[in-house]
Amino acid sequence: MKRKKIVAGNWKMNMNLVESKNLISDLKEISAENVDVKIAPSFTNLYMANSSLESSKIEVVSQDIHHEQKGAYTGEISAEMLLSIGIETSIIGHSERRKYFNETDLILSKKVNSAVQNSMKIIFCIGEELSDRNNSNHFEIIKSQLTNGVFHLESKEFKSVVIAYEPVWAIGTGMTANSHQIQEMHEFIRNLIKSNYGVEISENVQILYGGSVKPTNAEEIFSLKDVDGGLIGGASLNSSDFSNIVKAANGG
Ligand code: PEP
Repeated sequence: MKRKKIVAGNWKMNMNLVESKNLISDLKEISAENVDVKIAPSFTNLYMANSSLESSKIEVVSQDIHHEQKGAYTGEISAEMLLSIGIETSIIGHSERRKYFNETDLILSKKVNSAVQNSMKIIFCIGEELSDRNNSNHFEIIKSQLTNGVFHLESKEFKSVVIAYEPVWAIGTGMTANSHQIQEMHEFIRNLIKSNYGVEISENVQILYGGSVKPTNAEEIFSLKDVDGGLIGGASLNSSDFSNIVKAANGG
């Protein structure tokens, strides 16, 4: 099974309007036949980014959504609002949302439901803390995050989900998981998906790795059997690093 690679840049709370315009104009140069390239700017820059990249193949996605369609949720953004400006994919469950904004599995499953009900695609993030790994709980944690977050979906709904495995201890730390740890976990995730949804869906689902991916380690990580690309934080803010990571996903 040949799955298409994805390289998605999560800009987090970085880049004001001018900086975003500059970065986007550099990214327009990126071309990669075999890779779906995505960027996730902040909410304030989504409309501009999507308009600027209209004629490019780069997809603009959001970093989060709220689980309700509309209402008294000050400061929040719904799936319906995103769709109205042409954003069709959202990251859900990033470890920073789980950690700093207390997003529980229950909240995340509601966000997933909202995305699915609105026909949005999802990049669903999962990952263990270092203490979980040191206590050999990492497989259990990943299993429960998937079970509680997305495994309630029906098969046809699950097809709109991409999984991003991001060990929390590797995010923004420069401490990348090693190839063995990455492949082992990705295979575990694919097998869980197989048990829940069968062979075909498990062979088609794209599982991204995230956690200090850089141009220097991208090729090795992307060459692993069950790795279908990456979710990139820090390195996505630099056009040359990001385009070199895309090149690595495209086959060097
Ligand atoms: C992320 O936040 O999703 C991430 C992978 O960050 P970084 O690449 O900076 O580790």
